[in-house]
Amino acid sequence: MPVHTPSPLRRLDPVALRDEFPILAERIHGHRLVYLDNANTTQKPRSVIEAESSYYAHDNANIHRSTHLLSERATKAYEGARARVAALIHAPDPHQVIFTRGCTEGINLVAQSWGRANLGPGDEVLVTWMEHHSNIVPWQIVCAQTGAVLKVVPFDDTGTLDLDAFDRLLGERTRFVSLIHVSNALGTINPVKDLIARAHARGVPVLVDGAQAVPHMPVDVVDLDCDFYAFSAHKMYGPTGIGALYGRRELLDAMPPWQGGGDMIASVTFEQTTYNVVPYKFEAGTPNIAGVVAFGAAVDFLRQFDLDEVAAHEADLLRYATDRLSTVGGVRVIGTARDKAGLVSFVLDGVHPHDIGTILDREGVAVRTGQHCAQPVMDRFGVPATVRASFAIYNTRDEVDALVSALTVVREVFG
Ligand code: PLP
Repeated sequence: MPVHTPSPLRRLDPVALRDEFPILAERIHGHRLVYLDNANTTQKPRSVIEAESSYYAHDNANIHRSTHLLSERATKAYEGARARVAALIHAPDPHQVIFTRGCTEGINLVAQSWGRANLGPGDEVLVTWMEHHSNIVPWQIVCAQTGAVLKVVPFDDTGTLDLDAFDRLLGERTRFVSLIHVSNALGTINPVKDLIARAHARGVPVLVDGAQAVPHMPVDVVDLDCDFYAFSAHKMYGPTGIGALYGRRELLDAMPPWQGGGDMIASVTFEQTTYNVVPYKFEAGTPNIAGVVAFGAAVDFLRQFDLDEVAAHEADLLRYATDRLSTVGGVRVIGTARDKAGLVSFVLDGVHPHDIGTILDREGVAVRTGQHCAQPVMDRFGVPATVRASFAIYNTRDEVDALVSALTVVREVFG
């Protein structure tokens, strides 16, 4: 299904754009909302909210099954969203995009389907020290099931991946590499294209966890030459509980299903069941149809803009925030790699991040505090947790100023 590329692209005007996000008008403890927790989940534009409710109001039916008009409309909307998601990441064929519950489920799918079929005792799976738990635990589970071993590439004090260690660890027994594109805890942008080429030189397939990349920069799975690419709708202005997994055609075709049920079969008898083609082979049961439709609307929202301009806007906020934070006594930024996306993790001398989060919230500033589902990163820096401010398309320098002035309140409280 051809997807129209929005043209001309819409100029990015973060202030004007805010009106399209109803929640940004909320008052929090009597303050205007300053939402800087976008790496956790972004807010949703009206077009996404309305796509979901309009689907239920006008088109709701189950997909791929019935011959009636509503089912036809629902199927068209669902498959249209697949084509939109494919276009966003430049997947050659929409059928290489599988809808999942989110990035986590996409990685679990690959670990359980590809991993169980291809890993054996002594084989190695390579990940990095900066992975989100969702790119560690699924591999630990499949390693325990198959006897394979997890190997971990370290990073340096700035949060930059050790490429020599990557080369050293990519060995004779490496069967799979699974890498985070942009670290949700540090902001580091990893040179995934280069790392994929290094792995491919040894015939090793690579999955990229793109949860923090797709909403913030152009992603082209063909140019990256990755074998799998997983991400979540809710971090890119779409609904929760839905995401996508891109896969290389030959690998997806060869992989066994990981869940059985309706829609994933070609024929079922008690003697023998044959499976549907990709991607349906991996979409057992009635999916989150309304979520997929709204995901498509989120892609339409994002594709109005030049994603290089989005990246530049968020890079500007990162630079500004990093500068402004250096004026607050006792702030230490965790993650100072040269290539960083728009988020900043930090600690404040003598104050626990959770206390900082609570005081910031009282000032209307929403940030994430904790381990960011990346406990090994916290352990590597010897901190229990960090405060993380993460930026999106609608954030402004003004909001960075609000963060910094709320931090001065924390300083006043804690001395
Ligand atoms: N990978 C990264 C880098 C993330 O930041 C997150 C969420 O924070 C995930 C994976 C998991 O995403 P989800 O919970 O939407 O499946």
